[in-house]
Amino acid sequence: MNTRKPTDRPEHGKQYVLCGKPGQKSIANGNTWQESEVKTCKQCGTPLDLVDDIDYESGSWVELYYCENCDTYSPVKPLTDTRTT
Ligand SMILES: [Zn+2]
Repeated sequence: MNTRKPTDRPEHGKQYVLCGKPGQKSIANGNTWQESEVKTCKQCGTPLDLVDDIDYESGSWVELYYCENCDTYSPVKPLTDTRTT
C-alpha cells in the first residue's frame, strides 16, 4: 500500500538521496522525495553537503549547506534578519 502523497514523486532534473547516512534525509530512511532532494549550489550547481541545523534568534531551525566550490554557506530557508548594521 502506497502511503505517499500523490504529489510526492521525483521530479525530472533533480537529484535525490536514495541511501543516506543514519539521520540523513533519504528515500531509504523513509523520507519523502521532496525531503530527500539533493540541494545544489545556486551559483555553480554543485551538490551541497548538509553542514548543520542551526538555531537562529527567531527560534526557527535552518538547514545550512556548504559549497566547496564557492566556499560559501547556503541557508536553505531565507533568513529574516532584521538587525541593522
Ligand atoms: Zn557553489
